[in-house]
Amino acid sequence: MGKYELYFLGTCACDFSPRLKDELRDSFDSDARRSSALLVGESLLIDCGIHTLESLRIAIKDTRKISDILITHLHGDHYNADNIRAIASGEREPLRLWVRKGANIGQIENVEIIEMEQFRRYEIAEGISVCGMPANHDPNAHPQHFLLSLGDKKLFYGCDGGWMLNETYNFLRKSAIDLAVLDATVGDYEGDFRAAEHNSIPMIRLLLPSLRTIGALSDECEIYLSHIAPSLHVSHADTVKIAEGFGAKVAQDGLKITI
Ligand SMILES: [Zn+2]
Ligand SMILES: [Zn+2]
Repeated sequence: MGKYELYFLGTCACDFSPRLKDELRDSFDSDARRSSALLVGESLLIDCGIHTLESLRIAIKDTRKISDILITHLHGDHYNADNIRAIASGEREPLRLWVRKGANIGQIENVEIIEMEQFRRYEIAEGISVCGMPANHDPNAHPQHFLLSLGDKKLFYGCDGGWMLNETYNFLRKSAIDLAVLDATVGDYEGDFRAAEHNSIPMIRLLLPSLRTIGALSDECEIYLSHIAPSLHVSHADTVKIAEGFGAKVAQDGLKITI
Protein backbone atom coordinates (compact mmCIF):
# COMPACT_ATOMS: atom_id res chain seq x y z
CA MET A 1 0.00 0.00 0.00
CA GLY A 2 1.26 3.38 -0.91
CA LYS A 3 1.16 6.35 1.37
CA TYR A 4 -0.94 8.80 -0.61
CA GLU A 5 -4.44 8.20 -1.89
CA LEU A 6 -5.23 9.53 -5.35
CA TYR A 7 -8.96 9.98 -5.87
CA PHE A 8 -10.12 10.68 -9.42
CA LEU A 9 -12.98 13.17 -8.95
CA GLY A 10 -13.45 13.72 -12.67
CA THR A 11 -11.93 12.29 -15.84
CA CYS A 12 -13.81 14.02 -18.67
CA ALA A 13 -12.89 16.34 -21.49
CA CYS A 14 -15.67 18.85 -22.18
CA ASP A 15 -18.43 16.64 -23.58
CA PHE A 16 -20.50 16.17 -20.44
CA SER A 17 -23.41 13.75 -20.41
CA PRO A 18 -26.90 15.21 -19.77
CA ARG A 19 -27.39 12.24 -17.39
CA LEU A 20 -25.18 14.05 -14.84
CA LYS A 21 -28.02 16.51 -14.23
CA ASP A 22 -30.69 13.94 -13.38
CA GLU A 23 -30.17 10.23 -12.70
CA LEU A 24 -26.45 10.58 -11.86
CA ARG A 25 -26.69 13.64 -9.61
CA ASP A 26 -25.45 11.66 -6.62
CA SER A 27 -23.22 9.05 -8.20
CA PHE A 28 -20.23 8.41 -10.44
CA ASP A 29 -20.49 6.57 -13.75
CA SER A 30 -17.61 5.32 -15.91
CA ASP A 31 -19.26 6.54 -19.11
CA ALA A 32 -20.66 9.87 -17.89
CA ARG A 33 -17.56 11.59 -16.65
CA ARG A 34 -17.32 14.86 -14.73
CA SER A 35 -14.82 17.70 -15.16
CA SER A 36 -11.24 16.59 -14.72
CA ALA A 37 -9.84 16.76 -11.16
CA LEU A 38 -7.71 14.65 -8.83
CA LEU A 39 -7.61 14.74 -5.03
CA VAL A 40 -4.23 13.83 -3.52
CA GLY A 41 -4.69 12.73 0.08
CA GLU A 42 -7.27 14.92 1.81
CA SER A 43 -5.64 18.30 1.40
CA LEU A 44 -4.33 18.74 -2.15
CA LEU A 45 -6.65 19.15 -5.10
CA ILE A 46 -5.51 19.26 -8.73
CA ASP A 47 -7.96 21.40 -10.70
CA CYS A 48 -11.34 22.66 -9.61
CA GLY A 49 -13.66 22.89 -12.58
CA ILE A 50 -17.36 23.10 -13.17
CA HIS A 51 -18.23 19.76 -11.48
CA THR A 52 -15.54 19.50 -8.82
CA LEU A 53 -17.66 20.69 -5.90
CA GLU A 54 -20.32 18.15 -6.82
CA SER A 55 -17.70 15.40 -7.13
CA LEU A 56 -16.31 16.25 -3.68
CA ARG A 57 -19.83 15.98 -2.26
CA ILE A 58 -20.39 12.58 -3.91
CA ALA A 59 -16.97 11.42 -2.66
CA ILE A 60 -17.98 12.60 0.86
CA LYS A 61 -14.88 14.74 1.23
CA ASP A 62 -14.58 17.54 3.79
CA THR A 63 -13.65 20.58 1.69
CA ARG A 64 -12.30 22.37 4.80
CA LYS A 65 -9.40 19.91 4.75
CA ILE A 66 -8.33 21.12 1.29
CA SER A 67 -5.41 23.48 1.86
CA ASP A 68 -4.03 23.75 -1.68
CA ILE A 69 -5.43 23.69 -5.22
CA LEU A 70 -3.08 23.28 -8.18
CA ILE A 71 -4.53 24.65 -11.42
CA THR A 72 -3.36 23.13 -14.70
CA HIS A 73 -4.88 25.97 -16.77
CA LEU A 74 -7.78 28.36 -16.91
CA HIS A 75 -10.30 26.52 -19.10
CA GLY A 76 -13.67 26.22 -17.37
CA ASP A 77 -13.49 22.45 -16.98
CA HIS A 78 -10.34 22.96 -14.84
CA TYR A 79 -10.80 26.36 -13.22
CA ASN A 80 -14.10 27.60 -11.80
CA ALA A 81 -13.80 30.64 -9.52
CA ASP A 82 -17.24 30.08 -7.91
CA ASN A 83 -16.34 26.56 -6.82
CA ILE A 84 -12.97 27.71 -5.50
CA ARG A 85 -14.71 30.52 -3.59
CA ALA A 86 -17.11 27.98 -2.08
CA ILE A 87 -14.26 25.73 -0.92
CA ALA A 88 -12.42 28.73 0.58
CA SER A 89 -15.47 30.08 2.39
CA GLY A 90 -16.46 29.60 6.01
CA GLU A 91 -14.34 29.26 9.12
CA ARG A 92 -11.07 27.96 7.83
CA GLU A 93 -7.45 28.74 7.03
CA PRO A 94 -6.86 30.62 3.77
CA LEU A 95 -6.74 28.37 0.71
CA ARG A 96 -3.63 28.43 -1.46
CA LEU A 97 -4.25 28.47 -5.20
CA TRP A 98 -1.31 27.62 -7.47
CA VAL A 99 -1.40 28.86 -11.07
CA ARG A 100 1.19 29.27 -13.80
CA LYS A 101 3.01 32.61 -13.69
CA GLY A 102 1.20 35.16 -15.83
CA ALA A 103 -2.25 33.65 -15.31
CA ASN A 104 -4.04 36.80 -14.38
CA ILE A 105 -6.91 35.81 -12.12
CA GLY A 106 -8.68 38.22 -9.83
CA GLN A 107 -8.64 38.02 -6.05
CA ILE A 108 -10.91 35.46 -4.41
CA GLU A 109 -11.86 35.92 -0.75
CA ASN A 110 -9.75 33.87 1.67
CA VAL A 111 -7.54 32.63 -1.20
CA GLU A 112 -3.81 33.23 -1.51
CA ILE A 113 -2.80 33.06 -5.17
CA ILE A 114 0.70 31.76 -5.92
CA GLU A 115 2.04 32.24 -9.44
CA MET A 116 4.39 29.40 -10.29
CA GLU A 117 7.64 29.94 -12.16
CA GLN A 118 8.00 27.04 -14.52
CA PHE A 119 10.59 24.34 -13.73
CA ARG A 120 10.90 25.61 -10.14
CA ARG A 121 10.10 23.32 -7.23
CA TYR A 122 7.74 24.50 -4.49
CA GLU A 123 7.11 22.90 -1.10
CA ILE A 124 3.40 22.43 -0.47
CA ALA A 125 3.45 20.45 2.75
CA GLU A 126 5.81 18.13 4.56
CA GLY A 127 6.82 15.45 2.05
CA ILE A 128 4.91 17.09 -0.82
CA SER A 129 6.43 19.37 -3.45
CA VAL A 130 5.49 20.34 -6.98
CA CYS A 131 7.07 21.63 -10.13
CA GLY A 132 5.08 23.19 -12.99
CA MET A 133 6.19 22.63 -16.58
CA PRO A 134 4.75 24.30 -19.70
CA ALA A 135 2.19 22.19 -21.56
CA ASN A 136 1.30 22.08 -25.25
CA HIS A 137 -2.22 23.48 -25.02
CA ASP A 138 -4.07 26.77 -25.59
CA PRO A 139 -1.40 29.34 -24.52
CA ASN A 140 -4.08 31.84 -23.48
CA ALA A 141 -5.12 29.42 -20.72
CA HIS A 142 -1.57 29.39 -19.21
CA PRO A 143 -1.25 25.60 -19.32
CA GLN A 144 1.15 23.61 -17.17
CA HIS A 145 1.82 19.97 -16.34
CA PHE A 146 2.86 18.97 -12.84
CA LEU A 147 5.66 16.81 -11.50
CA LEU A 148 4.81 16.10 -7.86
CA SER A 149 7.02 14.50 -5.25
CA LEU A 150 4.92 12.60 -2.73
CA GLY A 151 7.32 11.22 -0.15
CA ASP A 152 9.76 9.17 -2.22
CA LYS A 153 7.28 8.76 -5.13
CA LYS A 154 6.87 10.86 -8.24
CA LEU A 155 3.55 11.66 -9.86
CA PHE A 156 3.23 13.27 -13.29
CA TYR A 157 -0.08 14.97 -14.07
CA GLY A 158 -0.53 16.08 -17.69
CA CYS A 159 -4.11 17.12 -18.40
CA ASP A 160 -4.54 19.04 -20.72
CA GLY A 161 -1.86 18.82 -23.34
CA GLY A 162 -0.96 17.17 -26.61
CA TRP A 163 2.40 15.43 -26.88
CA MET A 164 5.02 17.48 -24.96
CA LEU A 165 6.90 20.70 -25.43
CA ASN A 166 10.63 20.29 -25.99
CA GLU A 167 11.71 21.93 -22.70
CA THR A 168 9.26 19.86 -20.65
CA TYR A 169 10.24 16.62 -22.37
CA ASN A 170 13.92 17.27 -21.69
CA PHE A 171 13.25 18.34 -18.10
CA LEU A 172 11.63 14.94 -17.50
CA ARG A 173 14.74 12.99 -18.55
CA LYS A 174 15.77 10.50 -15.84
CA SER A 175 12.82 11.54 -13.66
CA ALA A 176 11.83 7.90 -13.03
CA ILE A 177 8.17 8.81 -12.56
CA ASP A 178 6.20 6.21 -10.58
CA LEU A 179 2.73 7.12 -11.81
CA ALA A 180 1.70 9.25 -14.81
CA VAL A 181 -1.77 10.62 -15.57
CA LEU A 182 -1.99 11.49 -19.26
CA ASP A 183 -4.45 13.46 -21.35
CA ALA A 184 -6.33 10.97 -23.56
CA THR A 185 -9.03 13.22 -24.95
CA VAL A 186 -9.14 11.54 -28.34
CA GLY A 187 -9.85 7.84 -28.95
CA ASP A 188 -8.09 5.19 -30.98
CA TYR A 189 -8.13 6.76 -34.45
CA GLU A 190 -5.93 9.03 -36.55
CA GLY A 191 -6.64 12.37 -38.17
CA ASP A 192 -8.32 14.24 -35.31
CA PHE A 193 -7.80 18.01 -35.55
CA ARG A 194 -6.80 18.38 -31.88
CA ALA A 195 -3.30 16.89 -32.34
CA ALA A 196 -1.48 20.01 -31.05
CA GLU A 197 -3.57 20.41 -27.86
CA HIS A 198 -4.72 16.93 -26.78
CA ASN A 199 -3.44 13.36 -27.03
CA SER A 200 -5.13 10.57 -28.93
CA ILE A 201 -4.57 6.89 -28.12
CA PRO A 202 -2.20 6.44 -31.11
CA MET A 203 -0.14 9.44 -29.89
CA ILE A 204 0.14 7.91 -26.39
CA ARG A 205 1.20 4.58 -27.90
CA LEU A 206 4.10 6.38 -29.58
CA LEU A 207 4.95 8.64 -26.65
CA LEU A 208 5.28 6.05 -23.87
CA PRO A 209 8.24 4.08 -25.30
CA SER A 210 10.12 7.36 -25.91
CA LEU A 211 9.48 8.48 -22.32
CA ARG A 212 10.91 5.14 -21.17
CA THR A 213 13.94 5.55 -23.45
CA ILE A 214 14.85 8.86 -21.80
CA GLY A 215 14.26 7.48 -18.30
CA ALA A 216 11.28 9.74 -17.63
CA LEU A 217 9.28 6.72 -16.43
CA SER A 218 10.44 4.19 -13.86
CA ASP A 219 10.44 0.53 -14.93
CA GLU A 220 7.26 -0.08 -12.93
CA CYS A 221 5.60 3.22 -13.81
CA GLU A 222 1.83 2.99 -13.84
CA ILE A 223 0.09 4.91 -16.62
CA TYR A 224 -3.46 6.20 -16.23
CA LEU A 225 -5.39 7.74 -19.10
CA SER A 226 -7.70 10.59 -18.11
CA HIS A 227 -9.40 13.68 -19.58
CA ILE A 228 -11.32 11.36 -21.88
CA ALA A 229 -13.97 12.62 -24.30
CA PRO A 230 -16.69 9.94 -24.30
CA SER A 231 -17.92 11.16 -27.70
CA LEU A 232 -14.46 10.47 -29.21
CA HIS A 233 -14.00 7.06 -27.54
CA VAL A 234 -15.64 3.65 -27.41
CA SER A 235 -17.13 2.67 -24.02
CA HIS A 236 -15.01 2.77 -20.86
CA ALA A 237 -14.94 -1.05 -20.74
CA ASP A 238 -13.66 -1.26 -24.32
CA THR A 239 -11.14 1.55 -23.76
CA VAL A 240 -9.77 -0.45 -20.81
CA LYS A 241 -9.09 -3.37 -23.19
CA ILE A 242 -7.41 -1.09 -25.75
CA ALA A 243 -5.21 0.49 -23.06
CA GLU A 244 -4.21 -2.93 -21.71
CA GLY A 245 -2.62 -3.55 -25.11
CA PHE A 246 0.07 -0.96 -24.35
CA GLY A 247 0.26 -1.42 -20.59
CA ALA A 248 -1.91 1.51 -19.51
CA LYS A 249 -4.97 1.80 -17.28
CA VAL A 250 -8.01 4.00 -17.78
CA ALA A 251 -9.14 6.31 -15.00
CA GLN A 252 -12.81 6.70 -14.18
CA ASP A 253 -14.68 9.00 -11.83
CA GLY A 254 -14.59 7.68 -8.27
CA LEU A 255 -11.45 5.57 -8.83
CA LYS A 256 -9.15 5.48 -5.79
CA ILE A 257 -5.56 4.32 -6.04
CA THR A 258 -2.49 4.77 -3.87
CA ILE A 259 1.04 5.82 -4.64
ZN1 LIG B 1 -9.93 20.16 -20.30
ZN1 LIG C 1 -8.08 22.81 -21.76
